[in-house]
Amino acid sequence: MLQLFVPLNFLGFVYREIKQALADIGRMFRLTDIEPEVQDPEPAVDIPRAPAAIAFEDVHFGYDSRRPILQGVSLEVAAGETVAVVGSSGAGKSTLARLIFRFYDVDTGVIRVAGHDVRRLSQASLRGNIGVVPQDAVLFNDTLGYNIAYGNPQASQQAIDEVLRLAHLEAFVASLPDGLDTQVGERGLKLSGGEKQRVAIARAVLKQPGILLFDEATSSLDSESEQSVVRALRAVAADRTTVIIAHRLSTVADADRIVVLEQGRIVETGHHSQLLARGGRYADLWALQQAEQASGPSDSTGR
Ligand code: ATP
Repeated sequence: MLQLFVPLNFLGFVYREIKQALADIGRMFRLTDIEPEVQDPEPAVDIPRAPAAIAFEDVHFGYDSRRPILQGVSLEVAAGETVAVVGSSGAGKSTLARLIFRFYDVDTGVIRVAGHDVRRLSQASLRGNIGVVPQDAVLFNDTLGYNIAYGNPQASQQAIDEVLRLAHLEAFVASLPDGLDTQVGERGLKLSGGEKQRVAIARAVLKQPGILLFDEATSSLDSESEQSVVRALRAVAADRTTVIIAHRLSTVADADRIVVLEQGRIVETGHHSQLLARGGRYADLWALQQAEQASGPSDSTGR
C-alpha cells in the first residue's frame, strides 16, 4: 500500500504545484480562460530547481501572425541576475514573461533557460523552476497560512517561517491576534494591496524556484506599501534569476540592469544612472513619472 501511496502522493504534489503555477500565471497574464498552447517534446529535458540563465535570441512573436508583438528581441539574463523590463503600456513586457514560462512558442528565434531551448524542456521542470508573482494573485477565502502554503501543503513550518521573513511579513503576522490562522476574506479583501502582494511573493518562493517572474503591482500602492514590497522583492531576488515587469521606475532603480522595451524592440539597456545620463526613452519616462508623482499618484505606463 505504502508503495502505491508514495508515487500517488508525489503525483498529487506535482499536480497541485502545476495547478497553482497555472492559476497564478493565468492571473498574471489575464489568460485563465485559455489553455496553454504548447506540448512537451519526446523525450523532454528536465532542468533542476536552481537559478538559471535566460536568453532571448532574436525572438519574433505575435499572438496573431498579422500583428507582430516582439520584433527581434535579444537579451541575456545571467543566473542570479535581476533585470527590470520597463516601457509603455502594450510594449510587450508581459509577453516576454509569458514566453519564458512557455505559455506560447516563439515564431522565430530561440528562448533558452539553463542553456536549453525551452521547447526541449519538460513543462513541469521549467514551470516548477519559475515562481510567478502576478499583479493580482489568486487569494482564497481561507486563512493567511493556507494562502501562503497553497500549492505546497507539505511545506514545513521552518520553510514557512523563512518565506515570511523574506517577504517581510513577519511583523504583520505577529501583529495579528490569530496569526497565520487569520481569515483573509473573499479574494483577500481583508488584506491591503501591499500585504496581498507580499503574500504572493511568499507563496511564489515557498517552492524554492530558481527563477522569479514578478509583475509589479506597486502602481496601485502608496509609497510606504510600495517600499515594503520592494524590500521583500529585493530579499527574495537575492539568489534567484529575477525578471521584474515594472510599472513604477522608482521601484527598479537598483536593478542589476534595466531594459527598455518599446513596440516590441529593446531600445535601451543599462543601469538607472547610465540610462538617465543617456537622455533617451528611459530618461523621458523617468521625468514623466517624477512629474506625475509630484502632481498625484499614478504611473507613466498608461495604467
Ligand atoms: P502593460 O504595461 O499595459 O501591461 P505590456 O507591455 O505588458 O503592457 P503586453 O501585455 O505584453 O504589453 O501586450 C503587448 C501587446 O500584445 C498589446 O498590444 C496587447 O494588446 C497584445 N496582446 C496581449 N495579450 C494578447 C493576447 N492573448 N492575444 C492577442 N493580443 C494580445
